[in-house]
Amino acid sequence: MNIHYRPTYAEIDLEAIRSNIEGLKTYLDEKTGVIAVVKANAYGHGDIEVAKAAIEAGAIMLAVATPEEALRLREEFPETDILVMGPVSPAFAEVAAAERIMLTAFSVEWMNRVLEEADKFLVPLQVHAKVDSGMGRIGVRSIDDWEELIHLIRTSSHFILDGIYTHFATADEESKSFVDEQATVFKEFISQLPEKPRLVHAANSAAALRYRQLQFDAVRFGIAMYGFPPSPVVKEVLPYELKPALSLYSEIAHIKKVEVGSTIGYGQAYTAEQEEWIATLPIGYADGLQRGLSGQEVIIGGVRAPIVGRICMDQCMIRLSKEYSIGEQVVLIGKQGEEEIRMEEWAERLQTIPYETAVLLTNRVNRVYK
Ligand SMILES: *Cc1c(COP(=O)(O)O)cnc(C)c1O
Repeated sequence: MNIHYRPTYAEIDLEAIRSNIEGLKTYLDEKTGVIAVVKANAYGHGDIEVAKAAIEAGAIMLAVATPEEALRLREEFPETDILVMGPVSPAFAEVAAAERIMLTAFSVEWMNRVLEEADKFLVPLQVHAKVDSGMGRIGVRSIDDWEELIHLIRTSSHFILDGIYTHFATADEESKSFVDEQATVFKEFISQLPEKPRLVHAANSAAALRYRQLQFDAVRFGIAMYGFPPSPVVKEVLPYELKPALSLYSEIAHIKKVEVGSTIGYGQAYTAEQEEWIATLPIGYADGLQRGLSGQEVIIGGVRAPIVGRICMDQCMIRLSKEYSIGEQVVLIGKQGEEEIRMEEWAERLQTIPYETAVLLTNRVNRVYK
């Protein structure tokens, strides 16, 4: 079943993933744990394979967004701690307890609803209580709610408070002031606890790489584990080199020389200004090569060539300076010769972030592991 005929594929360098984690571990205190964030199919890189590499490199826990993501990983990793960071339905709590999947306790209301299910738990449910210190997404915002939430967890034999955490809204931005504000709030919430739980954590990639003083017991390492700088600001101050793990390849499926004035693709959006070599690649927006990437360059024969005309669902056309053979390799993301195209370049063109362009690479793109 693993035969793939289509020459369009993503190659994931698991050594790069391990190296990005090892670099972080060297940079942080020895006792600080790395939580590998592998939500959204490991940012498009493949959850199982990335999780395996992360555990090999010393990650202490896996973090995901949804129950389904956690269950998939549990099948493959029976022993590893798995935390669901998103707000899950209380109906999942019973399964989570049985599968030893940790959930995020993010409000008093949620906790009360889970307590109603708790008689069904065969083993206690481990939770990480969430503080909304300024992100404004999930978590408790007042000390009163915090005390109530912690009390509900600690006074029921159906729950174990394994950790507490918060999330920064601006760790990847130039200004440090809001990060400081959030850290102050979080520390106040920590000080209200009768007893410190096993794991206190706050930092995402940007905070882990920029604010050593906010590492607490563990950091949640997502985007930088895949080798993408969290933002241009963080890129300037990286404490070690991040290696991009994902390369995206295709090849020439068809090539022709067109006359001056020939038009290419839907809407005749491109017109040849001279005699030109136009090649067709079997990759399109249904693969994650979004239509907004028209004009983006690819690498072929060690030089850059532009995508011309509208990107179709399954194919796109590029303009070449000379004839190439059918089957000639084309690099959409990655290195060839002296040239390199990084995901950040796509993100910039699309006015978004590499997180989004990476997760939008679809299942149709075969992932090959190196
Ligand atoms: C996605 C996510 C992370 C990882 O963030 P990166 O910027 O990718 O490192 C950490 N914590 C929470 C709560 C998240 O949702």
